[in-house]
Amino acid sequence: MLTENVKSVLAEVALPNVSEKLIQEAQSAAALQTAPYGPGEQAELVNQIKSLLRKEDAVLVAHYYTAPELQQLAEETGGYVADSLEMARFGNEHPATTLVVAGVCFMGETAKILNPEKRVLMPDKNATCSLDLECPVETFSKFCDAHPDHTVVVYANTSAAVKARADWVVTSGIALPIVEHLAEQNEKILWAPDKHLGSYVQKKTGVQMLIWPGSCVVHEKFKADGIKLLKTKHPEALVLVHPESPAEVIEMADVVGSTTALIKASSTSHEKKFIVATEPGIFYKMKQASPDKIFLEAPTGGLSATCESCMRCPWMAMNGLRNLKQVLETGTNEIEVEEHIRSRALVPLQRMMDFAKERAISMKEKGNA
Ligand code: 13P
Ligand code: SF4
Repeated sequence: MLTENVKSVLAEVALPNVSEKLIQEAQSAAALQTAPYGPGEQAELVNQIKSLLRKEDAVLVAHYYTAPELQQLAEETGGYVADSLEMARFGNEHPATTLVVAGVCFMGETAKILNPEKRVLMPDKNATCSLDLECPVETFSKFCDAHPDHTVVVYANTSAAVKARADWVVTSGIALPIVEHLAEQNEKILWAPDKHLGSYVQKKTGVQMLIWPGSCVVHEKFKADGIKLLKTKHPEALVLVHPESPAEVIEMADVVGSTTALIKASSTSHEKKFIVATEPGIFYKMKQASPDKIFLEAPTGGLSATCESCMRCPWMAMNGLRNLKQVLETGTNEIEVEEHIRSRALVPLQRMMDFAKERAISMKEKGNA
């Protein structure tokens, strides 16, 4: 259900349509990466990539939603598998001169904004995100101009140009404390682009926010009635939900949180069974942390759903061993961000990184880390 604030924004902006055609194009590109390996092919690719990473002084940083073989390779080669906030932090602190970002475009851009002196490569630069697509900078800038008394808070899932227009960048892992912090300063907040995460933050903090009406094509599909039905079959299962999901799905959650928070909840809980409403790539880390536990995908099709595992992010799936090897060999797919945009986008991004660092220190001091 949309809040009054979202309705008022809808009247002001017309969103571009993330069409089925775009999603199908991404799925076709992803099919080349997810096609079954021939005999010995996977092991050979892995060995070649390992030596290329060494040769190029490169480190692989992968998001939890990428294919298991990429996550495993990142771990085996001294790289990192993480959520979007931790990917940014790791890339910033690691000494390698080349960062290879397996994820979606905004993650590669974030790495470049924070590390202009490093070369940033991505297996496929066209791996985008529906939230990014639904927040074009021209329309967004007009909207910000129309509300000059608001502090502009944008989700990390946006272009560098949109970040350059913002006062703060947040990820799902840090959105709540940052909005609480702004509320303490009596700031009025303009939030973009995810309406579900925005509504969740608004509900949790009680802060009134103007919310842009974008959404994630993956999380939007989870259905409360499908989860209810699955719960009747597995009443003991804990429901874990990423806050990009619709409000009625969030209402069913035992735990709502970023990808890292959901993995942590699954490993620390005494429960043995979980219904998980987020991209299924996350199961690699969940199963690694808790091999004896059972993870069920939250249904995306309501009561009549027959497919319990069809919700892959089409853009995350564009990352594979094949195109990873190719970019390391050829140096193509380098991420560039124009300097006037990069330097402006760095300000809200660095603000988030500094806030996250201070918060981690104070949590540690309080013994909560
Ligand atoms: P995290 O910040 O939790 O990694 O989420 C990023 C994302 O794209 C979720 O769909
Ligand atoms: Fe974007 Fe959704 Fe894919 Fe995350 S899962 S990258 S929010 S489209």
